[in-house]
Amino acid sequence: MNLDEYRRAARAWLQDNVPSDDYPEADPVSRAKSFMAGLYDAGYSGITWPRQWGGQGLTQAEERAFADEARHYTLPTYLFSIGLGMTGPTIVDRGTDAQRERFVRPLLRGEEIWCQLFSEPGAGSDVAATQTRAVRDGDHWIVNGQKVWTSVAHHADWGLLLARTDVEVPKHKGLTMFVVDMHHPGVTVRPLKDMSGRANFNEVFFDDVTIPDEHRVGDVDDGWSVAVTTLLHERLSISAGVGMGGQKDDPASLEALRTMVDTGDPYVRDQLVELHIRTRALALFNQRLAQETRAGVFPGARGSAAKLLLAELTLFRADLATQLVGPEAVVGGHPLAGVIASAPGLALGGGTNEIMRNIVGDRVLGLPPEPRMDKNVPFKDLKVGTQA
Ligand SMILES: Cc1cc2nc3c(=O)[nH]c(=O)nc-3n(C[C@H](O)[C@H](O)[C@H](O)COP(=O)(O)OP(=O)(O)OC[C@H]3O[C@@H](n4cnc5c(N)ncnc54)[C@H](O)[C@@H]3O)c2cc1C
Repeated sequence: MNLDEYRRAARAWLQDNVPSDDYPEADPVSRAKSFMAGLYDAGYSGITWPRQWGGQGLTQAEERAFADEARHYTLPTYLFSIGLGMTGPTIVDRGTDAQRERFVRPLLRGEEIWCQLFSEPGAGSDVAATQTRAVRDGDHWIVNGQKVWTSVAHHADWGLLLARTDVEVPKHKGLTMFVVDMHHPGVTVRPLKDMSGRANFNEVFFDDVTIPDEHRVGDVDDGWSVAVTTLLHERLSISAGVGMGGQKDDPASLEALRTMVDTGDPYVRDQLVELHIRTRALALFNQRLAQETRAGVFPGARGSAAKLLLAELTLFRADLATQLVGPEAVVGGHPLAGVIASAPGLALGGGTNEIMRNIVGDRVLGLPPEPRMDKNVPFKDLKVGTQA
C-alpha cells in the first residue's frame, strides 16, 4: 500500500470508528479500551514500534499520515499515554525479551493500562532521592514506600517503579527499576484532586509488595540509567502529544479563539498571530526530533527543550484566552475553564520548567552544570527524609 492509500484507509477507519461525542460516558475505561483494541487490530497503534514485539514496524511517514488524519478527531486515548509514551518505550529499549513479549502487545492494544511511579513527597525534581525501598528476598523483591502524583494509577494494571536497593552508595547509584503489578495486595491508590476539580493523579502506597526478579528492568542498582531512558521518552512524548490523539475540540485552539473574540482589534490579531507562530514552530521542532529518532539519532536533552516550549506555549494560550475572553473564561462550565486550570500542571509534570532550563543549559548549550554537593555522599548520609 502506498502512502496515499495508507492515508485514505486511515481516514476511512477514523471516520467509522472514533466514538461520537454523545457516546455514553457511563464506563469511559471500557470505552477507551475497546477503542484501543480496534485501533490496534486495524494497525494504527504502535505504527513505528518493532513488529517483533507487536508493533507495525512501519516508518515515520505512515505515523505522520495517521497523526494528520487523527487531528480532526478527539481520540479516547489519554489513559494509555503513559504506557505509549514512557513505560512502553522503556520496556522496548531496556527490558528483557521476555518482558517485551509479555508487556508490549497488551499495552499497544489497550488491554493493560500503565503508570509511572517515580515522584515521591521528597523526590520530585530530584527523583534520584527516591526513598521507596526494594529489598531482595531470594528470587523476589519486597517493596515498601510511597509515590505521589502518579497519573492514571487508579486505572493502572502495571507500574514502572523506581526503588532504592542500596543506601550505602551515592543516591544515583543505588536505584533499581521494576515493573509492579498494581493489583497486588499491599498496593494502595488514593486519588488527589487538582485545581481543575479532576482527579487524574494519585498517591500510591506500597506495604510489603512482592515483585518477582524477572520483573526487574535493567541491572540491580542501574535504575538511574533506566529512569533517564524513561525521562527522555517522557519529554519527547509530552511535547509530541503521544497518546493524546487529535485535539479537534480544543477550546483554546486558534480556530476556537477566533470564533470567541473580535479579531478586528489589532492587539487581538497580534496575539493570535503569536499563538499561531509558536504553535507552528513547536510542531516543526517536534517533527524534526521525531525524524531524528526514526533515523537512529536520539535527540536526548533537546527533548527537554521541546517539553519546555510546550509548557510555555500552554501557559501562553491559557493566559491569552483569559485576557481575550475575560473573567468568565475561568468560571466552571465555560469551555475554557478546564484548559486554563490544567495549564500550570504542564510546567510541573514531566519535569518543571526550571529543571528543563537547567538540562538545556547544561547538556545542550554546554553552560557550567549545577554544583552537586551530594555527588559522592552515600545515600544514608544525606538529609533526605528519614532514610527508612
Ligand atoms: C499533572 C502532573 C502529572 C504528573 N504525573 C506524574 C506521574 O505520572 N508519575 C510521576 O512519577 N510523577 C508525576 N508528576 C510529578 C512531577 O514529575 C513532579 O511534580 C515534578 O517532577 C516536580 O517535583 P515536585 O512537585 O516534587 O517539585 P519540587 O521538586 O519540590 O520543586 C519545587 C520547585 O523548586 C524548583 N526546583 C527544584 N529543584 C530545582 C533546581 N535544581 N534548580 C532550579 N529550580 C529547582 C522546581 O522547578 C519547582 O518550581 C506529575 C505532576 C503533575 C503536575
